[in-house]
Amino acid sequence: MEYLGEIIAFGIDTVVFAICLKQYIYYKNSIEAVKSVELHDIGSDLKNLIDNSLNNKIDYVAIKGIVKPLGESLQSINKKNVTGVIQKFTVSEHVIARTSTGFWSTHERIIQKLYRVVPFVLQKGWYSVEIIDPLSADILDLDIISDNFEPSVPTFVDLVWGFFTGVRQRGIQSTEEMLRENSSITAIGELSTSQNKSDTLILQSPLNGSPFYITSMSITTLIRNLDDRKKLYRIFCVISGAIGLLLGGIMVRRYWKNKQEQRLMEQLRQSLETSRQERRQRVRDRDLREDQICVVCNTNAREIILLPCGHVCICEDCSASINNDCPICRTKITQRAAAYIV
Ligand SMILES: [Zn+2]
Ligand SMILES: [Zn+2]
Repeated sequence: MEYLGEIIAFGIDTVVFAICLKQYIYYKNSIEAVKSVELHDIGSDLKNLIDNSLNNKIDYVAIKGIVKPLGESLQSINKKNVTGVIQKFTVSEHVIARTSTGFWSTHERIIQKLYRVVPFVLQKGWYSVEIIDPLSADILDLDIISDNFEPSVPTFVDLVWGFFTGVRQRGIQSTEEMLRENSSITAIGELSTSQNKSDTLILQSPLNGSPFYITSMSITTLIRNLDDRKKLYRIFCVISGAIGLLLGGIMVRRYWKNKQEQRLMEQLRQSLETSRQERRQRVRDRDLREDQICVVCNTNAREIILLPCGHVCICEDCSASINNDCPICRTKITQRAAAYIV
């Protein structure tokens, strides 16, 4: 495959472009959805709104309230006085790896991610809304409670191992994050009444595909945040698009150059063929003696020497159709060459 390198690069670039474009469209749609959303206070009017709506639900709404657990709250492992409703532990390994270019670069690899969740509501005064399946949220803002990095002390075996594998461990990082009890957050999602208890309001991931957010940001900050990501993906789209166009251009140019070279080669071959035929014609026009004429066609001059027998007995045209044995002595032909008889 002549263009394999370019085709692979073009393929990868197309995939990157498609992913970036998908993300860009996703953030563009998310921003439009969040901009259209109405922020409601948690209170009696929220219940009225549900009662007056179609199917007892509001497709997309933002509510703000204070986080309260429905049962026992979770206690932080590292800071005993902190309690919350969602707890996330992440353990990641930091390694230095030798890259193919010979440099060392640091990587972070998540070894374990663990969540603990207890049912909770957003509350304001006497009113509350239960948040269903918070881990399915597109954005879930958690506070970092603790973040420890433990550098590893390499043994001699580790050093030798690292030398040969090109991977050295730097240390282990463990992070604890929580959605704290009594923190004020904004949740955006689908609001409806619980199927079990009709007086309980619930907020969950919208069935219509709109994004679900549980965030400590205000709606304007959230929109700005989404807009930053949208802009970032737009830049990636432009870059990968430009690379794609460049690669496409290179391939088209190479293809065109190859075509042109082939055409020139063909022209050269044809002109050589014509001059060769003219030369032969001149020889044929002379009166040839019987022993100078090809034994096969009896027309053209003898032009080819057959080896190893050494007979000069056939013309070039007939040589093309004789593959095995010499027509004079039946010796197997191993080689042939042009013979010039002057
Ligand atoms: Zn002949
Ligand atoms: Zn022979």
